Amino acid sequence: MSKNLFIKTFGCQMNEHDTEKIAGVLSSLGYSRTDSPDMADMIILNTCSVRDKAEHKCYSDLGRLEELKKKNPGLLIGVGGCVAQQEGKRIVEKAPYVDLVFGTDNIGDIPGLLEKRNWKSKDRVSTERRRRKSLMNREEITSLPIMRDHPLKALVNIVDGCDKFCTFCVVPHTRGREKSREPEDILKEIKGLASSGYKEVTLLGQNVDSYGKDLQKDVDLSGLLYRINKITGIERIRFVTSHPADFSDKLIEAMASLPKVCEHLHLPLQSGSDSVLERMNRNYTYSEYTDKINKLREAIPDIAVTTDIITGFPGESDEDFSRTLTALEEIRYDGVFTFRYSRRPYTPARQYDGQIPLEVSKERLNKVIELQNSITIAKNQECIGREFEILIEGESKKDKKRLTGRTRGNKIVHIPNENGISIGDKLRVRIKSATLASLIGEIVYRENPPLPVAMLRSNGNPAPF
Ligand code: SF4
Repeated sequence: MSKNLFIKTFGCQMNEHDTEKIAGVLSSLGYSRTDSPDMADMIILNTCSVRDKAEHKCYSDLGRLEELKKKNPGLLIGVGGCVAQQEGKRIVEKAPYVDLVFGTDNIGDIPGLLEKRNWKSKDRVSTERRRRKSLMNREEITSLPIMRDHPLKALVNIVDGCDKFCTFCVVPHTRGREKSREPEDILKEIKGLASSGYKEVTLLGQNVDSYGKDLQKDVDLSGLLYRINKITGIERIRFVTSHPADFSDKLIEAMASLPKVCEHLHLPLQSGSDSVLERMNRNYTYSEYTDKINKLREAIPDIAVTTDIITGFPGESDEDFSRTLTALEEIRYDGVFTFRYSRRPYTPARQYDGQIPLEVSKERLNKVIELQNSITIAKNQECIGREFEILIEGESKKDKKRLTGRTRGNKIVHIPNENGISIGDKLRVRIKSATLASLIGEIVYRENPPLPVAMLRSNGNPAPF
């Protein structure tokens, strides 16, 4: 009989993809996903430790799961992801009702952990780092079965870990050093996705722009994009996350010339102040960053650009912070992910002088959100009356009378749920109204086959994002 599996995912798209792998590994043991923790035979928390809030959330969720386990003693509880990697056996010491703990390299160990979970607490934990050891281990990890969440869009990991060592970030500790996948392995996976009907791939990595540097081969992200662009059936290619120090002219050229590469770039700025950027060990200045954005916008005028901003980094003065606000006004991002700095274990910034009081970093965060919201809504309103290509992703979560799609620039568009339109259809829509979070459109026509890229990239209507 099939058993029910509930997975709660915290954090980034890399974790979302790991969740698909966890579900894939457990499906071979007879588990199917459920949306209800109360119906579950096993609950996995796939955790994030990038910010203290996410880590605290993991422990508070574990407290609630203990209550659930008291009512249902057969319930299995697992913890994976970055908190599991960071905390290891401390999790079973703090929460002895947890049955298994597995690190970011150890999803493939889940069946073995389940077999021996009645043993001593150390036998319930697997956080050994593997991927550096041998090519065989890399293949073992990249060949894990995957139960994908979406029938149309797929996440494809190309590089895991990070060598950048930003002073605020715990990722190099929890995910380890950069480990790129072999290009042939990636292409094989994407060809398989295309033949199963997937139309969009998002290439994932903590720093996708440094893809291939550890492979001792002549491969990089732009070369990979050229090869993926040739795969029949794949219509849209995205990649995330880029690093400004590694984002190259060669990559801009590839983005501008490859029709399937979407007109969207997520390029984390973090701060508009050079002195903060230096203490963050980001390896670029604000003017070097804006030079790259200017080149990008020159090559692809309608590109959508999003970023990450941290407020309250140690030593951030009022003047430093005002430079961040100026950066937002100058660059006019389409969207910004905002974070309040939080001290993370194993990171140099944790020890820095000048830690900013919580209320100051919160107040700065609110100012960033307020300013960016006004920019985002203005940019969304600029879309009114223009036409866009959208790929239908499914029913609107809030209103079943609407379908939801995305532009190539990653903006969400809702349209009326009319007969004959289904997931995976590509449409041209005209935008009628805009809110902070999304656009409302009407169908202009169903676009099959897609418009030639030269037309998509013209400066007038139709616009590409
Ligand atoms: S680039 Fe910096 S912020 Fe991003 S994962 Fe690497 S260390 Fe963390």
